[in-house]
Amino acid sequence: MSTAGLDIRAPKKKCGDARCPFHGNLKVRGRLLTGRAVSTAGKGFVVVQMEYLHRVPKYNRSERRTSRVSARVPQCLDVSDGDSVTIGECRPLSKTISFVVVESRRGS
Ligand SMILES: [Zn+2]
Repeated sequence: MSTAGLDIRAPKKKCGDARCPFHGNLKVRGRLLTGRAVSTAGKGFVVVQMEYLHRVPKYNRSERRTSRVSARVPQCLDVSDGDSVTIGECRPLSKTISFVVVESRRGS
């Protein structure tokens, strides 16, 4: 079974998407990130938001920061708002997209 070179099994649904890491010929290499899908309004891509803590030594506290990345959604995956998704780095697919969704879990 195709795993796109990752420890992730391919979705049950098949697709004819050329830009799919499981059924097409899109290579995933580089960074693997996990975040939350915050906007699925776009066609063929989602906005993934990641939270991280930034240390502020002066006040000896941490502040919560977020960063957002756009990622392509292959046709064999369904992603809705609030889903927890894993995205893998791929070649630049457009000006702002160089990640592809490789796994999606319902809800938080
Ligand atoms: Zn596919």
